[in-house]
Formats: sequence, structure tokens, C-alpha cells
Amino acid sequence: VTSNLYINTRLATLSDGVAADYGMIENGAIAVHDGHIDWIGEVSKLPANYTGDRWNRIDLQGRLTTPALIDCHTHLVFGGNRAREFELRLQGASYEEISRSGGGIMSTVRNTRELDENALVEDALPRLDAMLAEGVCTVEIKSGYGLTIADELKMLRVARKLEKHRPVRIKTTFLGAHALPPEYADRADDYLSEICLPAMELAAEENLIDAVDAFCEGIAFSLAQVTRVFDKATELGLPVKIHAEQLSNLGGASLAASYGALSADHLEYLDDEGVLALKNSGSVAVILPGAFYTLKESRQPPIDALRKSGVAMALATDCNPGSSPMTSLLLTMNMGCTLFGLTPEEALAGTTRNAAKALGLQNELGVLEMGKLAELAIWDVEHPSELSYRVGFNPLFKSIRGV
Ligand SMILES: [Zn+2]
Repeated sequence: VTSNLYINTRLATLSDGVAADYGMIENGAIAVHDGHIDWIGEVSKLPANYTGDRWNRIDLQGRLTTPALIDCHTHLVFGGNRAREFELRLQGASYEEISRSGGGIMSTVRNTRELDENALVEDALPRLDAMLAEGVCTVEIKSGYGLTIADELKMLRVARKLEKHRPVRIKTTFLGAHALPPEYADRADDYLSEICLPAMELAAEENLIDAVDAFCEGIAFSLAQVTRVFDKATELGLPVKIHAEQLSNLGGASLAASYGALSADHLEYLDDEGVLALKNSGSVAVILPGAFYTLKESRQPPIDALRKSGVAMALATDCNPGSSPMTSLLLTMNMGCTLFGLTPEEALAGTTRNAAKALGLQNELGVLEMGKLAELAIWDVEHPSELSYRVGFNPLFKSIRGV
């Protein structure tokens, strides 16, 4: 077992236990043993038992250390791309128009169904690599482009397989209620009964699901239909999440909160009642500026109301081929600040501490504290605000996972 002692580093711990902004500790040291943070603090307070030969000392030369980044909402596994749709949107077609005319999600569904597991892995790896290059160590990946029992299971297996190809933790989310496939046009309830719910049950038996998500929107599933999905998830003992209030306010966030959801995501049209529901349930509000940017939306999520209510806010890429063809979590942080008025500290908390919470990983990850997993990002920057400040620049020095 390797025991490393990292010294001469500035630590943005994001820990509530450290009063300074970002939980900063200047002149810090971190002892990593057996994959966990064994000790963390100011180097002047380092106990004597960390100085012996057993500890391999590594001088980080004043660099900044943060928790490894976490992308808590992605659709990373899919076939094809939607550059043609991008062109059409620029000529004036709306997301809803493209969706109703059989483009949009349906073209990705066709491409995803065509590819086998290995081909989908090969397609996903460059996107995953782009994330890892920016200090990401945990990625959530949703199904939802298969929309048959076999293809939904295939997507979840592909997502899990990525862990064998790269040093990353994957959390899988079943999103069978993402879109209605053409073979079930105007028969959403039949689709749920015949495909979505049985697929969820089979995937759960195969232990392929960490959480269950649903897209609650006029172009997707109604509150009553999402209720059926969440009831099944609850029966199977799986936590829920929701895509809600992105294009209109149907009250999806409140519904998800009533199931104790891990998170409610998008939220541009969230109202005060929805904010209160998230506050009471302790669900994380996952903010996705990449989709807002790509779709050139104008309605901003109610950041100030969420902040005042103390709702934890996370930020994610929403990486998907249509509404957010983005793999950069650093750019997401910049957009969260520039487009939505998050502070750089909120942006960093949103890709570390609160992103961990959105995945139910808050006891293991997301902050630099004794006992947490040693998943760290070392940056060539002086202050953590620089991570949100720059556009299209990657200052990662090194990712550390476990040693
Ligand atoms: Zn999404």
C-alpha cells in the first residue's frame, strides 16, 4: 500500500469545517493512505508520525489542490452526432419543432440502437477523456437513447464498461422515460407499461442502476406518467432524479421532492413553490448552463431564490448530442457564473461538494476531509476563482485517484 504525503500546496477543501472562503487552507499538507485522506491541514500542524520513511513526500510547489471534479448529469453514451440539427437551429428551427418532426432525440435513438456495446464504448471514450483531462474523477451517465428493453440495458452496460477502460467512477442513471419512441407515438402509458417499467426492473436485477430519472415536460412525460416511473423506482429501492422545469413549469421538481429525490435538474422555470419543495426535501438543484446556452434560452433558473433558501446547487455539462454537446466542466463553471450569476465559489462547490450530494456520494467524495476518498485535482493556479474565470483554458496539473 502506497502512503503519500503531499506538501506545499494550497487546499480548497470546500469543507464546512474550514471557515475561510472555499474552505481554504494555505501551506497545506494531505496524507493519503489506502485510498483515503488520512490527514489534512496546515503543514505546521502535521503530526510527527507522518514524517517517517513510510511516507513518500511529494512537493506540490505551491499549486492548488481541490477535490476531483464530479460531472453529475451527462448523457455521455450515444451514437452519432447532431451537427446537422445545429445548423437547422441556427436557421431558426426550435428544439420543440425539431423534436416534433422526428429529428432531435429520435435521430440519436436510431444511431444508438444501431451500434453494439463495443462501438458505443469507442464512441464514448473520447468524450470521457476530455472530461478526465479537466480533473473529473466521477461521471454520472444516463440511459434514454435506447427506448427498447434491450437497448436501454445495452446503454447501461456500456456506461458501466467505461470504468474498465479508464480511471473513473461511473454512476448509472436509468432514463427510460426520456422520450417517446415513434413506435409508441401517442401511447406514452403503453410505452411505460411495456418498455420503460419492465426495462427498469430487468436492469435493476442486473444491478445496472444507481438512480432513476425522468424527463417531465410537454414534449416528454406528464406528472402522472413520471409518478408511475417513480413509484416503480421506489418499489425497487432506487433513488430518483428529474429533468424538470426546463421549457415550462409542470411542477416536476415538487413531484420529485415528494419522493426525496437526489436532485432536480435544469429548473429554468422553477417557481417559489418548487424552490421550497427542494429546500424541504434536501434535493440538489442541478444547473445546466450548457443546454441554456446551446438552445439560446432566455429564462434563467431562480439562482437567487435557491441561494436564499439554502438549496444546494450543482453544475453539470449535461453532455448530450443535441442540447448540450459539451464535455468541459470548467467551461460549465464559467457559464454558471457568466450566464446565471453563480459565484466562482458556488461554481466549484457545484462541481465537487454538491455534485457528490446529487449522486448520493457525499459521505465519500466532494470535499477534502479526513476519511474521504483521496480523489484530488492539482491545478496550476493561485486562486480557485481562476477555475471559473478562464474560458477554454485547462490548468490541470495532475489528477490523483487513491494514491
Ligand atoms: Zn439531461
